Amino acid sequence: PPDVEQLGRATWTFLHTTAAYYPDKPTPKQRANMLSLLHALPILYPCTWCAQDFGEDMGKHSPDVSSRTALSRWLCERHNEVNKKLGKETFDCNKVDERWKDGPAD
Ligand code: FAD
Repeated sequence: PPDVEQLGRATWTFLHTTAAYYPDKPTPKQRANMLSLLHALPILYPCTWCAQDFGEDMGKHSPDVSSRTALSRWLCERHNEVNKKLGKETFDCNKVDERWKDGPAD
């Protein structure tokens, strides 16, 4: 079976970075592809219990693919749900760009 921690870090890196560089004004095609990517996770993510819980959380909180900012925040909130479930500290979602796009201020 996969290393769930390493898989998780790699997947969050991919998802947060992709959200950080998603367009401010995505085309219908870009929105549709992002929705496909996100909706594939509960079906294909190779940690079955992770996938199951993530699917349930996504069912309660539909992805917001309307803009870069909205998507980044939505994803940050979903990651925080997983953090809470695992007893990890939650992340300040005002800092997603600093973490995943711009880097620290100086
Ligand atoms: P990670 O949680 O992997 O985070 C990596 C980095 O992202 C952090 O160092 C921090 O800089 C940044 N970060 C942290 N929180 C946020 C946030 N809210 N927004 C933006 N950036 C943030 N593991 C399980 O054991 N059980 C599960 O059910 C489970 N479900 C998962 C579901 C999904 C969809 C994914 C992608 C992963 C899941 N994982 C699960 C893995 C788990 O979330 C972690 O990736 C893993 O435990 C490693 O944790 P970590 O402490 O190294 O940091």
